[in-house]
Amino acid sequence: MRPRHTNKVLCMSVQQSSKSKVSVTPLDLESAKEPPLNTYKQKEPYTATILSVERLVGPKAPGETCHIVIDHGGNVPYWEGQSFGVIPPGENPKKPGAPHNVRLYSIASTRYGDNFDGRTGSLCVRRAVYYDPVTGKEDPSKNGVCSNFLCNAKPGDKIQLTGPSGKIMLLPEEDPNATHIMIATGTGVAPFRGYLRRMFMEDVPNYRFGGLAWLFLGVANSDSLLYDEEFTSYLKQYPDNFRYDKALSREQKNKSGGKMYVQDKIEEYSDEIFKLLDSGAHIYFCGLKGMMPGIQDTLKRVAEQRGESWEQKLSQLKKNKQWHVEVY
Ligand code: FAD
Repeated sequence: MRPRHTNKVLCMSVQQSSKSKVSVTPLDLESAKEPPLNTYKQKEPYTATILSVERLVGPKAPGETCHIVIDHGGNVPYWEGQSFGVIPPGENPKKPGAPHNVRLYSIASTRYGDNFDGRTGSLCVRRAVYYDPVTGKEDPSKNGVCSNFLCNAKPGDKIQLTGPSGKIMLLPEEDPNATHIMIATGTGVAPFRGYLRRMFMEDVPNYRFGGLAWLFLGVANSDSLLYDEEFTSYLKQYPDNFRYDKALSREQKNKSGGKMYVQDKIEEYSDEIFKLLDSGAHIYFCGLKGMMPGIQDTLKRVAEQRGESWEQKLSQLKKNKQWHVEVY
């Protein structure tokens, strides 16, 4: 049975953030110079426990996306922007007798987890469903193995974790007044939820964010928005430090009358975005691989209109470590 649509996780978070920041007891991770990396590997994964699985999207969303809270007992510490690996139960069809390959998922919580105690990590998972191109009918035998395992999981189920992995999407914290421009499509919002909770929801003694966080989120329609209540609450509380722009491809039109994608929103604010990048802003992209070509074309076009070379600008952004991409 698929989980019911409920906002329990979100409402709890919104309530907490609307009162004041939640104070956390700093973890040792705060003083570490480097993030933890691959503490658990495919051959020796960590057996964690599912705490909850909540459907995040409304009834009119195409497809299903779930928020999954995993109890690792504090044994798989991570930094915001890293990923967990999950080994789904069962046998690898390509290697009889061997376990499935690891699937990576961006962690959608801060290092303190949704319960603020450093014992959990959350994932934002879209159920991969296969539709036969000829009949148009769902073929459950070809549905994604790991995403369906995660979205169907029940509290108390065991889960094999590897990681944490990844350094590309770590949140640079040297300058607490920096600008962070986050571009997400769908589940690509996961690492940004972690950043934003660290910036606006948690009271972390060694990280007081005073810069600008600007989130662009692209999804199909309003029912597909992810963590919208949480983000909207930051807008109300931190209007000088947070901006939030949504591109709803099936509900909104771009200026040429076509579907509204994140690149159309980027174009709308291109002057500001380019100025912020010139002043050292970080820009992050996360989501499906297919998002990048359209975005790169837009950025190139905007650069040319401004009389700049996009190739030069991009290589400068990469050199300055301002450019962060994690697409899958
Ligand atoms: P698989 O079983 O691996 O199948 C893959 C696809 O093939 C599915 O769409 C399936 O329907 C299709 N398929 C299966 N059999 C057939 C067949 N016979 N013919 C044709 N098609 C078939 N995903 C998220 O949801 N959230 C995240 O935050 C996230 N973060 C990621 C971060 C990184 C760094 C990376 C690399 C990936 C991330 N992913 C994320 C993607 C995730 O790792 C998985 O790839 C995804 O969940 C699909 O895995 P699965 O096991 O469900 O599908």
